[in-house]
Amino acid sequence: MVDVKVLKDSAKKEVESQRKRLVEIAKWMYENPELGSEEFKAYELLTAELEKQGAKMEKQLLGIPTAFSASWRGKTKGPKIAVLAEYDALPGVGHGCGHNLIAASAIGSGVAAAKAAKGLPGEIVVVGTPAEEGRGPSAGSKVILANKGFWNDVDAAIMLHPATRFGVGGKALGIWQLKMEFKGQTSHAAASPEKGINALNAATLAYMATHMLRQEARRDANLVIHGIITEGGMASNIIPDRAVCEFGVRSSDEKYLVTMVDKVERCAQGCAMAMGAQVTVTKHKLYSSMKPNIPLVKVLYQNYIDQGVTVDDWQETQAGIPMASTDFGDVSQKCPSTGSYIGIGPENVPGHSKQLADCTMTKEGLEAMMVGTKALAMTIVELLAKPEVLKEAKEYFSTH
Ligand SMILES: [Zn+2]
Ligand SMILES: [Zn+2]
Repeated sequence: MVDVKVLKDSAKKEVESQRKRLVEIAKWMYENPELGSEEFKAYELLTAELEKQGAKMEKQLLGIPTAFSASWRGKTKGPKIAVLAEYDALPGVGHGCGHNLIAASAIGSGVAAAKAAKGLPGEIVVVGTPAEEGRGPSAGSKVILANKGFWNDVDAAIMLHPATRFGVGGKALGIWQLKMEFKGQTSHAAASPEKGINALNAATLAYMATHMLRQEARRDANLVIHGIITEGGMASNIIPDRAVCEFGVRSSDEKYLVTMVDKVERCAQGCAMAMGAQVTVTKHKLYSSMKPNIPLVKVLYQNYIDQGVTVDDWQETQAGIPMASTDFGDVSQKCPSTGSYIGIGPENVPGHSKQLADCTMTKEGLEAMMVGTKALAMTIVELLAKPEVLKEAKEYFSTH
């Protein structure tokens, strides 16, 4: 019988012994931010580090140039636990989403857990998932990996994200993107308006019609519709023959989201028809909503609590309103998953800001990274040592 407490203590110690190196990695990335799909230097740094730590590497994972997997297998076959790394930065604000800490924590927890769990069956895998911020050909790489079946044989996936508080779990909104291209007929706006078909009028009407959908929105489904008009004519004395709108539609309810995307599309078609214009709507699903896994949430939560940090009550987090979308949502739809967040700075620091990037380098930020890395490492070894928890997580996954 394995003593889980002993295992977790040893995972914590292994993380602590890497402190200097993890700080170096986070700092190097802070100083060398790279945009999504172009994270070549970070990719080199992280894969070299994992290779040095004896992981079996799969580089350019499933054809994605800056994705990787690094795995350690236990003595015998068993569950596969994944910890996810992100390493893309943002234009203008560098690591303003703190992905440098996500990368360091994934490396640190994977390596530490592999060392601590040596005698156990199963597999630990650090998965490098680029372009979380949705830029370039590898945009939303977790979705690409999901579509290629990568997460199907993973028993649990965990990660952390920098924030201004500590917490575990929470929801994320699914998102679809729509582009409406209206086609009309140009004509002299004063001399021969009767010969024109105003595409901008059709687009404006569609823009307003989508607004009007909001009143009937299901409140419990957290519907968000946001849009802009990206093209609306060339000169004011020409009736525009082309106008383009782009919309994002989000909800925490996957099925309802599809219904609302259809309704937004109908707004475009109906308004085009009303104006005698034509419209082409292209739509695609960007990210799925987050499917919570409460058994995993409880384990990861306890591993934060046990370190004495103040953590948001997980039930309150779970009941909270989801704010954003992430490609981690697509992982959660394929295997039991949970995220967590770490408090790296004061409450008033905005996300996607230079200030948040700077918080990743403060004493408080780096300490939070260490706490999070330990919580992840403890959770990995706990899941490997307690098959009953994974069984519960799987049951929850298939029944919710
Ligand atoms: Zn972000
Ligand atoms: Zn982020």
